[in-house]
Amino acid sequence: MLAVVILGACGGADSDSATEVVPPTDAPSAVAEDDTPASDESDDEPGLTAAEIDDDTIAVLGSYDIKGDQLEDGIDGPPTDEAIATFAIYTDLIPAEYRQGVVAFVAIDQDESGGTDGALQDVMGPDGEPTGDRYIALDVTGESVELERTIVHETGHLMFGEPGGAPTSYFIDFNAQFPPGAEYNADEFVTEYAASIDDGGEDIAESWAMFVFGDTDLAGDADDDGELDFVPEGTIAADKVAFFEDYPELVQLKEDILN
Ligand SMILES: [Zn+2]
Repeated sequence: MLAVVILGACGGADSDSATEVVPPTDAPSAVAEDDTPASDESDDEPGLTAAEIDDDTIAVLGSYDIKGDQLEDGIDGPPTDEAIATFAIYTDLIPAEYRQGVVAFVAIDQDESGGTDGALQDVMGPDGEPTGDRYIALDVTGESVELERTIVHETGHLMFGEPGGAPTSYFIDFNAQFPPGAEYNADEFVTEYAASIDDGGEDIAESWAMFVFGDTDLAGDADDDGELDFVPEGTIAADKVAFFEDYPELVQLKEDILN
């Protein structure tokens, strides 16, 4: 079952809201109107401290503030070539307006992180509360065999959850159509990982990633059977993938990612 662990593509930001009842919110914050480049204005220090990252399950190799499409110097100096190359995959794949609010890049080692190759999480403030900024962590060692899929999954977390974990309207609508909490079964979930958090946070992120990359070489192999994952027609899982068709901006984002 190693593959299931390896697909552990996200962090705890979404698990915090598992039992929380949160009021509906308006438009998703990730798609805000202005396109000011994300930059870490929360402090003057380079990169993020361990307390700001607040996740001891990921093996951090370095952290860097993001300025537009560039990484700034981190606590230990300039970004490594591996960090720059990995961050470029992220900025090449995801349009700038869907990276808003992501103020720092955390370089991690997948093998040393229990198989996690990415996470999108809150930057924590000195009071231990989310600052409202997020960071993206990605494997920079080259071990991840589905980094692009993970990047799309993590971008899903940015779109579907507010800082602190409150759901956006997409997530509220998704959970209304597909009530969360079921045990994993192949008819209802695109991957086993989709059923791993019972608030539906991983379900929508995994379904979104499959909406973007289904039927492509980047679909991933979460069940580790040596074949690219696919979602059988006529299943609830297929309905979850089709959910995103109702949102023209998400259909457009898929096109932008694929082209
Ligand atoms: Zn996730």
